[in-house]
Amino acid sequence: MDRRLLDILVCPVCKSKLRYDAEANELICTVDRLAYPIKDDIPLMLESAARELAGTPSENVPATLVSQPRAGVSQ
Ligand SMILES: [Zn+2]
Repeated sequence: MDRRLLDILVCPVCKSKLRYDAEANELICTVDRLAYPIKDDIPLMLESAARELAGTPSENVPATLVSQPRAGVSQ
């Protein structure tokens, strides 16, 4: 994708600058947690075309997934 294009593109929802995810080929708005797809090098800057991102794993790990193994419990 053209880096100069990335410089002028903003999120249509919050007008923030976007981050280009080369691996997923998406433009990411970290404010709204939306990912805008890029089709044939043309970003689809539509809220309806964007997909919602899940929370960052390092920030939002559910407590159920970090439960400690119960070793050495004697009764
Ligand atoms: Zn946004």
